[in-house]
Amino acid sequence: MLLSSLRTIHSIQIRRRSRELGHVSQNLSIATATPTIFSCPKCGETIDVSATSCRFCSEPINADFARHAAEVLAKINQACSDATYMRTTALALPVFAVLRYIPFASMLGGVGWGGLLFIVPIWAVRWWLRFSDIETQDPDYIKSRKAVKIIGLVVGGLLALNLLVFLAAFAFGFMKALSQR
Ligand SMILES: [Zn+2]
Repeated sequence: MLLSSLRTIHSIQIRRRSRELGHVSQNLSIATATPTIFSCPKCGETIDVSATSCRFCSEPINADFARHAAEVLAKINQACSDATYMRTTALALPVFAVLRYIPFASMLGGVGWGGLLFIVPIWAVRWWLRFSDIETQDPDYIKSRKAVKIIGLVVGGLLALNLLVFLAAFAFGFMKALSQR
């Protein structure tokens, strides 16, 4: 009973993972190539930049508008896939945190924990500078923006806390060394 439910959870995770990977590779191909698709301003369907009118609602398409809209869409896709990577990376933090207390894995845990504590906030700030001002109501983008904000604040706060503790310990040791002279 327990085994079968575990197996179900596992297969759901694999399915979700492969879907995310497919999503990411799709986003990557969009982001690296010249933007070629965008959403019709009237009906919202995805159409090609080279189209002169929407193939769904036959709304006439302005070429400049289409190019701009395609660039924005490519940027949104890039922002979403970057945020997904960031979230996955940030989720490794608690794993490393636990590893620090396990014999033989403590060194790996320490290096991973310390490294990610610096990398993730920098990554979040970089994301924010590049992507936070996109004007869109795209639900995936709004969700990604919120996630990046939370990840940046939480991990940034953890980093600040760790630096404070480190500085306090350093200052304490320094004072102690002084008083013993
Ligand atoms: Zn349309």
